[in-house]
Amino acid sequence: MNPPTIAVIEDETPIRRFLRASLSAEGYRVLEAEDAAGGLRTITGQRPDLVLLDLALPDRDGLDIIRTVREWSAVPIIVLSARGEENSKITSLNAGADDYLTKPFGVGELLARVRVALRHAARINSSSEPEETAFRFGDVRVDLASRIVTRDGEEVKLTKLEFDLLATLVRNAGKVLTHRFLLEKVWGPQAVDEPHYVRVFMASLRKKLEENASRPRYLLTEQGVGYRLKSD
Ligand code: CA
Repeated sequence: MNPPTIAVIEDETPIRRFLRASLSAEGYRVLEAEDAAGGLRTITGQRPDLVLLDLALPDRDGLDIIRTVREWSAVPIIVLSARGEENSKITSLNAGADDYLTKPFGVGELLARVRVALRHAARINSSSEPEETAFRFGDVRVDLASRIVTRDGEEVKLTKLEFDLLATLVRNAGKVLTHRFLLEKVWGPQAVDEPHYVRVFMASLRKKLEENASRPRYLLTEQGVGYRLKSD
């Protein structure tokens, strides 16, 4: 088995070094580019298994890279952005990025996000294998096939929309999902400007599934961006 290859596209040398050191120590093969042009060459020429992409590059906006790559590839892309750039996070996720890391981030967080993104990609690529239909978090078990949700072994009654929202989170466990993405998936494209739908249904899911709805441990809010189901 070859180790997964990760392309790091980042113009700040210290951050690039940090990424290379952390990822190499974990056994990943690391490719580096310091601008958008070099990054695109790396992605097209070497077909990495995952891309870590800085949004503010000297020659082009990182968003251009996401859009260009998405025309022909589903390679997972994790965006590196600065704190407070909620809008660019949302724009990148909507353009096709899989996740984001807010600078400064630690090694643990970096590696966890990389693992989730690679696992997702592997699952999509091996679609011939039967899909695991039961997902667990805390004392909750979600069976996507039978649409049965239990908590501590007891069935929890969910409305259709509650279940659809939960199922979307489960299918993308560990990934941050924007309000827009959830609205489009669960309510349909006509609802993308109604973020309160998600807020209301998220609150009722938390009430039914979290021990303490005001301090959720699994159904997490990504401030200003959307939601994430924590995956262990
Ligand atoms: Ca930069």
